[in-house]
Amino acid sequence: MLGAKGVKRLTSGPDWDRVQRIADRIEDAAQRLHPRATAGFEWEWAVVDDEKTVNAWALPGGKSAVYTGMLRMARTDDELAVVMGHEAAHAIARHAGERISGDILVQGAMQGTAVALGDMSPGTHRATMAALGLGSNVGVLLPWSRMQESEADEIGLFIAADAGYDPQAAIPLWERMAGQSGAPAEFLSTHPSESTRIQRLRKLMPRAMAIRAAADARSE
Ligand SMILES: [Zn+2]
Repeated sequence: MLGAKGVKRLTSGPDWDRVQRIADRIEDAAQRLHPRATAGFEWEWAVVDDEKTVNAWALPGGKSAVYTGMLRMARTDDELAVVMGHEAAHAIARHAGERISGDILVQGAMQGTAVALGDMSPGTHRATMAALGLGSNVGVLLPWSRMQESEADEIGLFIAADAGYDPQAAIPLWERMAGQSGAPAEFLSTHPSESTRIQRLRKLMPRAMAIRAAADARSE
């Protein structure tokens, strides 16, 4: 379907199927691990047909989007699950509210708009928000803080593991993202990739693998 200003939202096909397949498991895991924080969430993962945008985001409440550019960057379902878990974690931790300055009124869907801004360039967010029916009025673009990123990495890694995906996929994924040449990925412009990120992820891995093993045992 073609939305406002040429933003094309996929509603079928292999890319859409892939995202929904992973989303089902990520949502279940998020609800298992964070029942209170996700209470009232109505998850929905839009797939935006935009090969040049390596990005994804999730709003408090569960409205989320993945760009086809990200689907190429995340080569396996395990890698994509790490990305989607990370974005879901930002929503679960309600980082949006922390980034909104005091002079901007935030209510309902507007909250979601602010989160979305953080995960894409100002030039593309308005059209996308309009196309997804989320409004396009709030205009702040702030990168996540390192503390928020660390928190989302940890929460997201454990969600992906609990969903039965391989948390170790986070390492090659983030290495590839950081090593991207040419135009910087929009995802990285708001998700600073400091050199310690991989080290932190490695430290989390034993616990993530234990969560994964428990998830495997549960599904047997
Ligand atoms: Zn992030």
